Amino acid sequence: MMFRDMRRKRQALPQQEITDILRRGTSGVLALWGDNGYPYAVPISYVYDGGKIYFHSAKSGHKIDAIQRAAKASFCVIDKDLIVPAEYTTYFRSVIAFGQIRVIEDDGEKRAAIQKLAIKYAPKDTAANRDTAINREWKPLCMLEMTIDHVTGKEAIELARERQKSNH
Ligand SMILES: Cc1cc2nc3c(=O)[nH]c(=O)nc-3n(C[C@H](O)[C@H](O)[C@H](O)COP(=O)(O)OP(=O)(O)OC[C@H]3O[C@@H](n4cnc5c(N)ncnc54)[C@H](O)[C@@H]3O)c2cc1C
Repeated sequence: MMFRDMRRKRQALPQQEITDILRRGTSGVLALWGDNGYPYAVPISYVYDGGKIYFHSAKSGHKIDAIQRAAKASFCVIDKDLIVPAEYTTYFRSVIAFGQIRVIEDDGEKRAAIQKLAIKYAPKDTAANRDTAINREWKPLCMLEMTIDHVTGKEAIELARERQKSNH
């Protein structure tokens, strides 16, 4: 068994919704093989380009050490967490991707990746301003690329019922 099936299949999100969530999310939690057997789950900004997920990072630290120890990671984005006290539940929606991370070494690839990230978070900036900001941070900047091996999305049963109704 490489990747598990979702036990509650009715709550699984369609591929298009997964893609939309990865595009509209502004952060996620990256889970890595940390120190001394402890998983390291670290919040991080990201950009999804329809294929891969890109992150920016410093060149040293717990996160980079963990990635160098093991490329395999999982990344979780929470899209919705609407608490419904009267029902003792949350109407949630989230995505989990499993994949492998590499440090981008090539300068051209590194620039393309940081540009994607910059455009996602500052879409209205001019290309000139963006380049200035990128050049300013260039040296200490490390770009990471996650190739997705498996991705699923899940939502609360109440939201799944709504979706099934609206599909009919
Ligand atoms: C919404 C959000 C978006 C972020 N976006 C980015 C991003 O795009 N790129 C990026 O590099 N960083 C981002 N950060 C910061 C990120 O979570 C890490 O703090 C940072 O990347 C340093 O990680 P490190 O493992 O190198 O730190 P280190 O200093 O090596 O970590 C050492 C220890 O510090 C503690 N620690 C580190 N980070 C955190 C944290 N966030 N909260 C609590 N304790 C912590 C942990 O105990 C960790 O073991 C973001 C944080 C948030 C909340």
